[in-house]
Amino acid sequence: MTSVLTHYIGGDWRSATDGRLLDVFEPATGRVHAQLAAGDSADVEAAVRAASLAFPAWSGLRHGERASWLHRLADAMEACLNELAEAESLDTGKPIWQTRDIEIPRAISNFRFFAAAATQFSSESHHDGALLNYTLRAPLGVVGCISPWNLPLYLLSWKIAPALAAGNCVVAKPSEVTPLTAHHLSEIMHRIGFPAGVLNIVHGHGAEAGRALVEHPLVKAISFTGSTTVGRQIAGFCGPALKKVSLELGGKNPVLVFADAPRADLIATLLRSSFQNAGQICLCGARILVERSYYAEFRDALVDAARALATGDPLDPETRVGALVSAAHHAKVMGCIEQIRRDGGQILCGGKALRPAGRCAGGWFIEPTVVEGLGADCRSNQEEIFGPVVSLQAFDSEAEALALANASSYGLAAQVWTRDLNRAHRLAAQVETGIVWINCWMQRDLRTPFGGMKASGMGREGGFEAMRFFTEPRNVCVQLESR
Ligand code: NAD
Repeated sequence: MTSVLTHYIGGDWRSATDGRLLDVFEPATGRVHAQLAAGDSADVEAAVRAASLAFPAWSGLRHGERASWLHRLADAMEACLNELAEAESLDTGKPIWQTRDIEIPRAISNFRFFAAAATQFSSESHHDGALLNYTLRAPLGVVGCISPWNLPLYLLSWKIAPALAAGNCVVAKPSEVTPLTAHHLSEIMHRIGFPAGVLNIVHGHGAEAGRALVEHPLVKAISFTGSTTVGRQIAGFCGPALKKVSLELGGKNPVLVFADAPRADLIATLLRSSFQNAGQICLCGARILVERSYYAEFRDALVDAARALATGDPLDPETRVGALVSAAHHAKVMGCIEQIRRDGGQILCGGKALRPAGRCAGGWFIEPTVVEGLGADCRSNQEEIFGPVVSLQAFDSEAEALALANASSYGLAAQVWTRDLNRAHRLAAQVETGIVWINCWMQRDLRTPFGGMKASGMGREGGFEAMRFFTEPRNVCVQLESR
C-alpha cells in the first residue's frame, strides 16, 4: 500500500479540503510510491490563518529562543539523517550517497546557520551631529516559501530557516514532484513539539496551491525558487500587488577554461559540475568554453571521464548519476538532445535514454552527454536543458570568452579556470552572473549573497541578505536637544 502525504497545518496533518490526491513517483523505477494531498485555495486559507494566529507569539520570542527551536529541529533531523536521505533518494532518483553525504547534511546546516544568524543579526544606526537615525527591523508576518524538485529539502530549508529566524511564520509549498522529505520534516516538527502554526506545509500543484499562496492578501512576501517561466508569472502578480518577492530562477551557466587552467582538479570538478544530480542543479555548468590551444585535449579527457560515469540504480553505492526526476522532464531533455542534432551539434558521448537491467528498467535515465559544434546563438546553447548534457565551444581570446559567456539571457553562476589571477579577477568583474567561482565549483559559504541576474532572478538569498529580505526596515530619526 502506498503512503498518503497530507498537509501540515496548525500543528496537525490534514487532507486536501476536497480530498483530491496526486500520484508521487519513484524516478528510478517509474512506479508510484506515495499519494499526495492536492491542495487548493481553501487549504492555503487554512494554513495562512494558522500562521497568522501563531505569529504574535513566535515573533515575540527572544532571538535566542527562536534560535534554540531551530537548533532542536536540526538536531532532530540529524537523528534521522539516514531516513531523510533514503526518502530524498527515493523521491528524486539521486544516488543515495549524494543525499546522505551532501544534501541532507546541508539542509540541517541551513537550520543551524540561520539559528546563529538569528542571534547575530543587527541593524544600523547613523549619527550626524544632533541627528540620530537608527533602523528597526521587524518580521513581515506570514510569508510564503515555494521550492522546486531538484534539491527538495535543501532548498526548502534554505528559505524557511531564515524566514523563521527573522520571526516570521511560514506557509511552505514544496514541489509536488518531490514532497516526501517535506512530509518527514512535518513529522519531525510534530515529534519535537515545534510551536503549532509557525511552519505550515501545503502540498499540491503550483498552479493551484502555489498560486493561491502567492495571491493570498495576508502573505506579505514570496520567496520562490524554480523556473524562469513561473518566476515571471509570480513577479507579474507581486509587482502590481506591491508584494515583496525574491526569485531564484533558471540558468545556462558558462564555464571558462583557459589553457593555463590548473589541472589537478579540473576534469573531476567539471565532471561534477556537468553531471552531478544528472545535471539538474541550477548551478551546473552547461556551456563549457575552452581556449582553442587546449580544446582537443580537454574535450577528449572530459568525454572519456563522462563515458566512465556509472549511471543507474541510486541505491548502488557505485552509481554516480541517477535518474531524471520525472517522465515529463525525461521527455523534455530527450527533446533537447533531438534539438541539438537539428541545431547541427555533434554528440561526442551519451545522447541516449538508458534502461538499466533489473529493478530500474522502468526508470527515467539518460546517458551523460557531451556535445560540440553548436553556435552560440542556437536554441541548444540558449535554453536551459537541466539535464546531463553539456555543450563545448572553443575560443581564441579572453574577449571572445567573455562575449560567449555573456551571450545568454541568463546570469546565475560562472566558473573561470586559469592560473592568471589578474585575468580571473578581470573576468569576475565583467561576467554577467550573480556568482563566479574561480578554479572551483559549488564551494558554498552560507554568509555570501546567493542568486542570479538577468533571467536568473531578482534579489539574493544567503546570510544577512536573507534576513534582510524577511524583515521590514523602519528608519527612526531622532533630533537630539542640545544642552
Ligand atoms: P517550477 O517553476 O516548475 O516549480 C517550482 C515550484 O513552483 C514548485 O513548487 C511548483 O509547484 C511551484 N509553482 C508552479 N507554478 C506555480 C504558480 N503559477 N504559482 C506559484 N507556484 C507555482 O520549477 P521546477 O521544475 O520545480 O524546478 C526546476 C527549475 O528551478 C529550473 O529552471 C532550475 O534552474 C530552477 N532552479 C533555480 C535555482 C536557483 O537558485 N536559481 C535553484 C534550483 C532550481
